[in-house]
Amino acid sequence: MTIDSCKLKTRSPQTGEQYHKTIFDALERADQEVYQLIAGEYQRRQNTLQLIAAENQCSPAVLAALGSVIQNKTTEGFVGARFHGGCQVVDRVEELAVKRAKDAFGAKYANVQPHSGTAANQIVLTALLQRDDKILSLGLDQGGHLSHGARVSFTGKFFNVENYYVDRRTFLLDYEAIRDKARSVKPKLIICGASAYCRTIDFKKFREIADEAGAYLLADISHIAGLVIAGAHPSSVDYAHFSTTSTYKPGGPRGGLIIMGKDYDRKIMVGTKSMPLWEHIERTTFPGVQGTPYLNNIAAKAVFFKETLCEEYRQRQFKIIENAKALAASLLELGHDVVTGGTDNHMILVNVANFRAGLTGVMAQKCLEDCGIVVNMNRLPYDKKAATITSGIRLGTPIVTKNGMGPQEMRSIAQLIDAVLRTVEIISDAEYRIDRSFQNKTRQKVEDLCSKFPMQ
Ligand SMILES: *Cc1c(COP(=O)(O)O)cnc(C)c1O
Repeated sequence: MTIDSCKLKTRSPQTGEQYHKTIFDALERADQEVYQLIAGEYQRRQNTLQLIAAENQCSPAVLAALGSVIQNKTTEGFVGARFHGGCQVVDRVEELAVKRAKDAFGAKYANVQPHSGTAANQIVLTALLQRDDKILSLGLDQGGHLSHGARVSFTGKFFNVENYYVDRRTFLLDYEAIRDKARSVKPKLIICGASAYCRTIDFKKFREIADEAGAYLLADISHIAGLVIAGAHPSSVDYAHFSTTSTYKPGGPRGGLIIMGKDYDRKIMVGTKSMPLWEHIERTTFPGVQGTPYLNNIAAKAVFFKETLCEEYRQRQFKIIENAKALAASLLELGHDVVTGGTDNHMILVNVANFRAGLTGVMAQKCLEDCGIVVNMNRLPYDKKAATITSGIRLGTPIVTKNGMGPQEMRSIAQLIDAVLRTVEIISDAEYRIDRSFQNKTRQKVEDLCSKFPMQ
């Protein structure tokens, strides 16, 4: 049945629209507590500076798709192989999302079902590896991700994980050292891509290393997916066998994505059967790892991927980098230790312990938040502080850029951060005092700045 013959029978077109408009009215009537909390989160986001590098801000259109009736549709499997009836509409939705994801990344294959970036990695790992097979990945404390084999994650529990590291002096990936490690470890899978790495990643080199070691290559481009779409960072899609990403970091709904380039139909032996890699990935997605897809979320992904095909989105990715470079440069000028001396992407790592003796990442995060500046503490490579204390903070520019700020505002933000970190009175690793009138004045300056750049 086509979408036309299934006749979208809301009694009249207006009824459908009214239904949609009643959603927030219904929430307000049904649950004042949650309604007020949502209003409060809106206020918080509008009145404070959002500088968390892992965060972004999706459009109202994406939010509308998330909150739509598509959320009610239950099915299993992929388009053409569903386990429930009534999929005429959602099949079209998923096909659109897949097509647009492929267009956005110039990919041969896209799987829009992963519930998150972590789930996308989980699917690839489950598809390729048996228990105790070897993974080579960047260490968690070096900028890697939990789902790349950290001991506290299932990926570290079931697989045999070895790490590669950044150079002790430059804090940059040392491809020769990674090559040596891959030669000696002989992993079945190499993972590249990071949560805290400010410089360009050479996916071509990683593929050469993987080929030499006879390993598959997974590029987890969660943080830089938007930059990759726009061509503001080299693409992993044709170098890695698999690229994964969360979809909220580049500015879409929460969720994950697996994309494949030229290796998508390469054969893999599964038991005694040979099948294309992409098909094995689908069978591992369902029933291997996940159950029913979140179809409302897939609708929202479709809306988001359409946005990424627009000129505004593409140009914004370059502005995000320009802003990050401006913020890094201003912080350096003010005497801060910006890790690797700057950035090539949307993210900046700052060693706050090197700015003032006794200052820690957790303290910086907290006192900045007291003043309306939202960042996160971050371990730095070879950090001697615990993960809950840290020596660093991580800053990101996607949201302030989305709201229209430019290099001039980045200088103002650097000055605000600098003033807070200079003024805070250090008591212990996690304890500090901040002068109340200084705090209020800074908060006011932050609010004034934010009010000029309303949430987009
Ligand atoms: C954020 C991130 C993820 C996890 O994505 P979730 O959707 O939060 O599970 C995976 N890998 C990297 C490198 C990330 O930065």
